Amino acid sequence: MRTTKQKQAIETVFLNSDRPLSVEEVTERARETAPSINTATVYRNLKTLVDSGILTKICSGQAGTLYEPNHSGHHHHFHCRTCGKTFDLPGCPLSVQPKLPEGFTADSHELFYYGICAECARVGVDQRVYPE
Ligand SMILES: [Zn+2]
Ligand SMILES: [Zn+2]
Repeated sequence: MRTTKQKQAIETVFLNSDRPLSVEEVTERARETAPSINTATVYRNLKTLVDSGILTKICSGQAGTLYEPNHSGHHHHFHCRTCGKTFDLPGCPLSVQPKLPEGFTADSHELFYYGICAECARVGVDQRVYPE
């Protein structure tokens, strides 16, 4: 019963999010409805949700390991180095496949953009205009 409630709390977190989330972010948000949930439980449930095809796991050297719903179709990501959040970029800019070595076949690719998000850029500007 309790386990189900915690799993539901995690699923709700993703229903209410418009961007991929780290384990830490999922834990923090799930605690709003399931205060006793811990990181180990979140990890276990995330694995179950990935195994059953509800969530998908994305990894990047700078953004780390993130989870997002599996139904969003092929798209890419933007990682803000200032706030550490990762955002969805709809669609795919790669219309031309790279030339692969003889005999190689690619069936997927991943693409991460890195930089600063609009919110961090705005706050940065404000801080310059109104220093403390
Ligand atoms: Zn940011
Ligand atoms: Zn693509």
